[in-house]
Amino acid sequence: MNSIEDRLIKIFNTLLNAFGKRHWWPGDSPLEIIVGAVLTQNTSWKNVEKAINNLKRENLLTIDALYCSDLERLSSVIKPSGFFNIKAIRLKNLIKVLYEKYNASIENLKEIETDDLRKVLLGINGIGKETADSILLYALNKPVFVVDAYTKRLIKHHIPPLIADRPISGDSYDIIQRFFMEHLPLDVYIYNEFHALLVYLGQKYCKKSPDCEHCPIKGI
Ligand code: SF4
Repeated sequence: MNSIEDRLIKIFNTLLNAFGKRHWWPGDSPLEIIVGAVLTQNTSWKNVEKAINNLKRENLLTIDALYCSDLERLSSVIKPSGFFNIKAIRLKNLIKVLYEKYNASIENLKEIETDDLRKVLLGINGIGKETADSILLYALNKPVFVVDAYTKRLIKHHIPPLIADRPISGDSYDIIQRFFMEHLPLDVYIYNEFHALLVYLGQKYCKKSPDCEHCPIKGI
């Protein structure tokens, strides 16, 4: 078992056996996942949950309500997520596109071809690659691999050929995403679960001071 494909699948299966399915991304609806993807920028999920609960309590978690909401009120409702003024603007930007260009319908979004939809999302002010890809994968079931700091750490420690060919520095997002998508089947389930497993791995073992001794993928 030496190819990169085999090694990635081995890491995936080992993590899945060790941690079980992660049931990520939490959310009662695609809209809640979309909103969560914006709110989670630079904060913990606990804070996002508080902000989402506030939105629900204030009856603001619908496309119409978000579109019509006053920016100041929206900022105050999502305050627990931090950077709330900026995040309120980003949410409004995203909902404006959804409302005005796609008839306020997430189903309409799903019908757009993945690369085109990614360009639409990245064209919205404040929506970066990780947020756009989280929306594509977790809210819209598009086969797009999400890259974050935990993914980068795994690559650095366990996939040396990538580093040898193309050193990771600066904006490595595209390189790492392409790497996973070229070496894994184009499969929403695998992308969904793999990203969630890597997040859990990063939180539990692969921290700034990694606990390699107890880590399930030690030696792969
Ligand atoms: S904790 Fe150690 S063994 Fe586990 S993923 Fe991080 S570097 Fe690898």
